[in-house]
Amino acid sequence: MPFSLSKPTVLIIGAGIGGIAVAARLARQGYKVTVVEKCEIPGGRCGQMTVQGYHFDTGATLFMMPELYAETFAALGERLENHLDLRRLDPTYHLYFQDDSHLQLSPDLHRMQAQLETFEQGSFARMLRYLEEGGRHYRLSLEHLIGRDFRSLPEFINPRNILLFLQLKALTRHTTYAQRFFKDPRLQIAFTFHDMYMGLSPYESPATYSLLQYTELVDGLYYPMGGMYSLSTALTRLAEKLGVTFLYNAPVEKILLNGKRAIGLALADGRVLSADIVVANADLGYVYRDLLPDDGSAGRIDRREYGCSTVMFYWGLDQQYPRLGAHNLFFSGDYRKSFQDIFKGLTMPEPPNIYIHAPARLDPSMAPPGHDTWVVAIPVGHHNPTQPQDWPSIQSRARFFLLQRLAQLGLDDLEQHIEVEVSYGPLDWQSRYNLTRGSTHGLSHKLTQMAYFRPHNQHAHYRNLYFVGASTHPGTGVPTVLVSARLVSERVLADTGGNRPETSP
Ligand SMILES: Cc1cc2nc3c(=O)[nH]c(=O)nc-3n(C[C@H](O)[C@H](O)[C@H](O)COP(=O)(O)OP(=O)(O)OC[C@H]3O[C@@H](n4cnc5c(N)ncnc54)[C@H](O)[C@@H]3O)c2cc1C
Repeated sequence: MPFSLSKPTVLIIGAGIGGIAVAARLARQGYKVTVVEKCEIPGGRCGQMTVQGYHFDTGATLFMMPELYAETFAALGERLENHLDLRRLDPTYHLYFQDDSHLQLSPDLHRMQAQLETFEQGSFARMLRYLEEGGRHYRLSLEHLIGRDFRSLPEFINPRNILLFLQLKALTRHTTYAQRFFKDPRLQIAFTFHDMYMGLSPYESPATYSLLQYTELVDGLYYPMGGMYSLSTALTRLAEKLGVTFLYNAPVEKILLNGKRAIGLALADGRVLSADIVVANADLGYVYRDLLPDDGSAGRIDRREYGCSTVMFYWGLDQQYPRLGAHNLFFSGDYRKSFQDIFKGLTMPEPPNIYIHAPARLDPSMAPPGHDTWVVAIPVGHHNPTQPQDWPSIQSRARFFLLQRLAQLGLDDLEQHIEVEVSYGPLDWQSRYNLTRGSTHGLSHKLTQMAYFRPHNQHAHYRNLYFVGASTHPGTGVPTVLVSARLVSERVLADTGGNRPETSP
C-alpha cells in the first residue's frame, strides 16, 4: 500500500480508560487523534459523579498492579508519581463474615500472622506459600498471556504453552486450589473472593487468579487521592497536551465503511467525521451489534459468556462512620450458592454479599466536612432479555439487605442519615455506557475466552478498525485495559508504519 509522509488521522469511539490511553499513545507518535464520547465526562467505567459535594467513583475503586499504570505513563514520557498521589493501603480490606468474625487483610505480615492463627493454626505459613505461588502466576501470566498479542492459534496452543497452563494451574478450579491451603471456610473466602473483579465465580475460575491476592498484598493496593477518576482526568489532560481532541455528549451512531476499510463515523447529531483509522473503545458486543453491519459476528459474540453485573448505591451520609474502613466486604449466606445465583440464576443471592468503599477516611475531599461518601456494590447476574428479571424489585431488596447487614454491625440509624442516594442496576449500566447485558465486567474471563480465544484487537475484514477495552484481549479491569491500549497502539504502528495510506483500496 502506498504511503504519504503525513501522519494518519485516528477516530476513537469512547473515552473510557482504553480509548484515552490509545489516544495519548498514538498522539505521542504524531497521529492526529479525535476521541468521540457519548457521555459528558471521560473515564467510562472509571468515571465519577458529584452530588451536593459528595464525590462518588461510579465504577472502579481499587488501584492494583501499579507497574501497569506506570508503564502507560512512561510510554507517554511521564512519571506516574507526578500525576497521581497514590497512598498504599493497610489494611487493604475489612472482611466481615456471616458469623460476625472479622479479618483485616494487611500487607503487614505480623498483623496477618496474629490474625490468621486465630482462624486456623498453621494457616499463616500456608498463606505465604499461596502468595508465593500467586506471584509466580502473576509474572507468568503477564509475560506470556496478558502482555502478548496473539495473531494466530499456534502462537497460543503449542507445547510450550501447554506447560505454561499447567504451571498456571489453569485447569484447577480456584476454590479447589484454595482448599489445599486453608481448611477454615472463611479463609477460603478471603483468598478467592477477588475473582469477582474479573466478573468470575471462584468456583468456575482457574486457580491462576490467585495472582490477584498476590498483587494486592505484595505489590500493594493503592488509593489515588481524588479517587480512581483522577486517573481518567490525568490521562485525559496528558492526551490533550499531546494534541488529542475530545468531543463529549457525542454518541456515535455508525462506523462508516468503504470496501475493506473503515472510513469514518456518523454521529447521532448528524455530524460525519472521517479518518484513516478507527478504534472502538465502546463495549465490543455493542459495537458489533449497533455500529457495524450484521455479518453474523454480533450473534457469535452475544452467545459468548458474560460476567456479572452490580447493583450500586451511591450514598452521601450527613455524618461519618469511622467503624468502616476504606474497603469493606460483608459475606452472607452460602458462599457457593451466592455464585450459583449470580452466574447461573442471573439474579441476586439473598442475602447478598456486599462491598462498601468509603474513601473519605483516606481523602476528606471526597465528602463535605464531617460527612461520609459510600459507594456500595452488590454483585448480581447480568441482564438477560429472555428471562424475567424484575430489576426495580431486586434493587429494592438489595437496599433492604444492605440496611439489615449494617444494622447487625451496630449501624442501625443509617437510613435517617442518607442525604444523597443514587442507585444503578444492570439496565443503568447498559444504557449509560452501552454495556452488553449490563455486564459491568464484559465478557467473562473463563479459559475459553482468554488470550487468542478472546475477541481480537483488530477486525478480521476491516483491517484499519481496531478494538480496545474490557471485552477484547487481554481483558477487564483498569490495568488490563491499559495493556489492551498498548497492544492496540503497537498494532496500529506496525500496520501503518506511522504513515498515512495515500489511497483507499
Ligand atoms: C462497578 C464496577 C466496579 C469496578 N471495579 C474495578 C476496580 O476496582 N478496579 C479495576 O481495575 N477495575 C474495576 N472495574 C472494571 C473497570 O472499570 C473496567 O474494566 C474499565 O474501566 C473498562 O474500560 P474500557 O475503556 O474498556 O471501557 P469503558 O469504561 O466502558 O469505556 C467505553 C466508553 O465508550 C463510551 N461509548 C459507548 N458507546 C458509545 C457511542 N456509541 N459513542 C460514543 N461513545 C460511546 C462509553 O460511554 C464509555 O465512556 C469495575 C467496573 C465496574 C463497572
